[in-house]
Order: sequence, then C-alpha cells, then structure tokens
Amino acid sequence: MRPLQMVDLKTQYHKIKPEVDKAVIDVLESSAFINGKPVQEFSDNLATYLGSKHVIPCANGTDALQIAMMALGLQPGDEVITPSFTYIATTEVVALLRLKPVFVEVDKQTFCIDPESLRKAITSKTKAIVPVHLYGHVAPMEEIMKIAAEHNLYVIEDVAQAIGADYTFSNGVSKKAGTIGTIGTTSFFPSKNLGCYGDGGAIFTDDDALAARLKMVANHGQQKRYYHEVVGCNSRLDTVQAAILNIKLRHLDEYIAARTKAADFYDKAFAGNSKITTPYRASYQKHVFHQYTLILEGVNRDGLNEFLASKGIPSMIYYPVPGHKQKMFDSFDLQVQDMEVTDWLTERVISLPMHTELDEEQQNFIASSVLEYINK
Ligand SMILES: *Cc1c(COP(=O)(O)O)cnc(C)c1O
Repeated sequence: MRPLQMVDLKTQYHKIKPEVDKAVIDVLESSAFINGKPVQEFSDNLATYLGSKHVIPCANGTDALQIAMMALGLQPGDEVITPSFTYIATTEVVALLRLKPVFVEVDKQTFCIDPESLRKAITSKTKAIVPVHLYGHVAPMEEIMKIAAEHNLYVIEDVAQAIGADYTFSNGVSKKAGTIGTIGTTSFFPSKNLGCYGDGGAIFTDDDALAARLKMVANHGQQKRYYHEVVGCNSRLDTVQAAILNIKLRHLDEYIAARTKAADFYDKAFAGNSKITTPYRASYQKHVFHQYTLILEGVNRDGLNEFLASKGIPSMIYYPVPGHKQKMFDSFDLQVQDMEVTDWLTERVISLPMHTELDEEQQNFIASSVLEYINK
C-alpha cells in the first residue's frame, strides 16, 4: 500500500508530469517570469470554466480577500460578517484593514453560514458578508443573497475550498460557487482542489468597474504605470504557477470526480454507525470534497487521532480553535453571539485523508481502522 497522506500531491503530479515539466521549462526559456503569457491565458480559461466575466489573478487566497475588501472601499469601523468556523484568513484580513469582524454561526449540517444567525448580526454599520464554502460544501447562497439585497450589503464568497462546486437556485438556474456574490475569491495553495506548486490566488466578478478597481488595487493602485490613484498592494500570480494551473484546470472536473468517489466510499463504509455523522450534501449544490470531515459523538477524538497515527493514518482537526476564540482578536471589541453550534462542532469534527489519488486498498484500511477504534 502507498503511504497515507492527507493530500498526495506527488502521485497526482506524476500523472501529469510530461505536460507540467514542459510548461515550466517553456516559462524558464521565455524568461517572462512576471505577467508572462500563461497568466492571461489561465485567467481567461478560468473565467470560461466558471462562467465569470472577469478573473483577476493574485498572489494567494488571503490577498484575494484583502484586495476584494479594499476594492469595495470598505472603511475602518465598517462591519464585515464572517463565520467563526472557518480558516483564519477570512477574518484576519477584516482585522488587518481595521474593519470590524462580526462572527456568526454555521449550520450544523452544511458547516456554512447559518442565515438565521446572519440576520441577527446585521446592524446599520454592516457593509459586507463573507460566506465560506467550507470543506467544499456550498453555502446557502440564495438566502444569503436575499438577505444581502434587503440590507444593501456586498457579498464576498470565499471559494478557496470549493472551486468547481455547483449551486442551483430554486428556479433551476445553476452557477459555479464564487460567481454568485459581488466578488468571489480563491486560493491555489498546493493542497486546494485546484492547487499550483507554490502560492497563488484569484478574484472573480461580473462587474466591469469593480474588475478594473480590483486590478488596480492588486497592482499598486495604478492603471497607468507610475500613476498611483489609490493605495494598493503588490499581488501577482507567477507565470510558472499560471502555466501549471492552466494544465491542472483541464483536470479539475476529473479531480472533483475522484474526490467525490472517495467520499462515496467513506460514506458507505461509515453508514449506520451511530457515533459517526458523515458529511451532509444539501441538494441545492454539488459538493467538491476539499475535506472529508466527520462529526463524532461519544468518541475520544484525540484517542482516535493517536490510534490512526500509530497505524500510519493521518487525520486533522479543521479547525481546533474557532475565530471568536482566537487571541489575535483580543484587542477588538467583538460582541460575539452565542456560538453554541460552532463550539459543538469544534469539539467533534475530524477530517480523514481526502485527495484525488486514494485507492480502495487505502480507503478500506482507513475506514476499517476508524471503525476498529470506534466500535471497541
Ligand atoms: C486556504 C484558504 C484561504 C487562504 O488561502 P492562501 O492562499 O493560503 O492565502 C482563505 N480562506 C479559506 C477558507 C481557505 O481554506
């Protein structure tokens, strides 16, 4: 059996090695390391894939969120609503820009923003909502967009964990996650569903004026070289990474299918076990399984983690501390709602290896080991 990892990037690379190696060497030979041709090509290809009018590449997913908030003109003190149950980047940039982070609850089944909690958090100072499509499950966007419209709020979709996921509105219209809100942001960190071999990120919008502003903010606040209209930042996607992403984008649907197949296998293996809740899949969306995350009840989670590790099986807690309990926000005057669900989930979730290269032998071993511990 191949060694088990949370993500197996090497086996995946070996399957596309000739294409990738050639693309990288072509960049080296062109020596157009910054803003070479593959950057525009990849942006165009991703825009077509997503059905988004504009794709603005940038250096990473955290920058993408920051640039989105800067381009929207959010001002210190403006309130930005994010789930507490997410990766820190989502909320960190809010604090970095001296905006006010407002944490809300997630739904126990979807792990995404709970619309009821969201409604309760809105004040006259609220300017934006950042739904996160956590673990690859799409947030209830129709409801979120309705609430945003009622209160005139921007919606920045953090699609770092769900690129390629589909969302279907009640009228039957389908869209890609990240193309529903005012702006979508993503990351190409190597372990993400569409990952490069370093850092990378992108921002999506259908709004022409906003796209121009996003581009300007990502490029030192300039449209014309050396004429700086606003304070921006320096955030670019390297040509080498864009060339790699261009190849991997062609495989994205196949990668999603492989992850879904692995999730189906786990689902079946754990079905009917009263101590395990397998990931929910709301019918309005198509999950892309960035993570495969179980909710455990009546199980010693640390004990399971150690037992699995002793057999060479990695498992992870995403995330061990929710946003509203992070020390970094101590100096912010956060009026945090009751976070019962978030705290409950934080104590019970565990993620198993999930990637495109899992085979049945590996998954059988992982699932039977989990069950061996839980049923003993
Ligand atoms: C990975 C991730 C980010 C940040 O992406 P980086 O490229 O690492 O900066 C932001 N939000 C979520 C939900 C993520 O999973």
